Amino acid sequence: MGGRGPGDGECALTRGLELALWCAEQGWWVHPLLPGSKRPAANCPQCRPPAPGERAACGFAGRDAGECGCLTAGRHCHGVRAATRERELVHRWWRGRDFAVGVATGPSGVLVVDLDDHHHPLPKLELLLPGIDLTGHPDVGRVRTGVDVLKLLCGVRRAASLLEAPPTLTVRTPSGGVHLWYRVEEKARFVQGAGRLGWQVDVRAGWSTAVAPGTVTAAGRYQLVGPERRLARLPRWLALELARVGLRTRDPALSPPRRPRLPRPGPDHRPHDARAYAAAALRRELATVAAARTGRNDLLNRAGFRLGQLVGAGLLEHDQVHQALTEAAALAGVDPGEAKAQSTIRRALQAGIRSPRTIPIPGARS
Ligand SMILES: [Zn+2]
Ligand SMILES: [Zn+2]
Repeated sequence: MGGRGPGDGECALTRGLELALWCAEQGWWVHPLLPGSKRPAANCPQCRPPAPGERAACGFAGRDAGECGCLTAGRHCHGVRAATRERELVHRWWRGRDFAVGVATGPSGVLVVDLDDHHHPLPKLELLLPGIDLTGHPDVGRVRTGVDVLKLLCGVRRAASLLEAPPTLTVRTPSGGVHLWYRVEEKARFVQGAGRLGWQVDVRAGWSTAVAPGTVTAAGRYQLVGPERRLARLPRWLALELARVGLRTRDPALSPPRRPRLPRPGPDHRPHDARAYAAAALRRELATVAAARTGRNDLLNRAGFRLGQLVGAGLLEHDQVHQALTEAAALAGVDPGEAKAQSTIRRALQAGIRSPRTIPIPGARS
């Protein structure tokens, strides 16, 4: 990444197209957000679910990009899942439009630590840095924002402050928050989580969107702070902290749609035995849950039941499925610690286990 960046003085890139191209040059995968907004641009009519919680006519299940012709046809349906870094597509999506720019964090090898400043009253002590005993800590009384919480974590771990002259690309958000952008290794997979690492600390990773630096929304500009335009590697100690709070995943599937040809499952990809079938079903159900925007609990319930049936048939491991569903739900914005979601998963799995699935004939699709 060069010395110049979006939003720098006279060279301010205020238009979506230029900003999207700049992001793509950084090797980031981008997708359109509604003008002046943090929300993804709308799907085409075929990809819009008929009612909340219902599957869209296109049958898109999230991770299996091949199920929706729109992605391979180069449309920007399904938000972060449509992300691209192809210049031609960026031109097609942004030319003549004032879409804002979202960066698909995981596929871009990016993790953003999002520090909020919501002026909320302090939570209970144990929620400030979940899992860390802060009893009697002298700095707790001074905490007001996500920045303070991260400073506290740096202090507790005796790590160099991540906030004084941060050696990585840093953005101030219109609401007074701070985004620290980090590079993550190819093999390291993290997932999104709000409040898991700390109070007013969100982590944007995996299938999550970060608003591109330089974006202007109705609330103001995502303004670059300081001189650094490159992304530092995620500090190792912070990666360990993310693993400690359950934001690291072993899930290997994180590739944006391949274009322009529809990826057709060849003979090698066709489920050839019951376990492969179960694994494919697991991926499909997780993708559906992760891509959910509405009706999350119903989707979670349905996915839990279907996967429970495969657990009951001895094709999947119960704990693995439970964990994977929790992570997929987190991608859809469900707090993994939420009692309701956990009980939905548990009950749906149990119900499925009680009615094990007959294994379909090889090669068949459900
Ligand atoms: Zn579509
Ligand atoms: Zn679709």
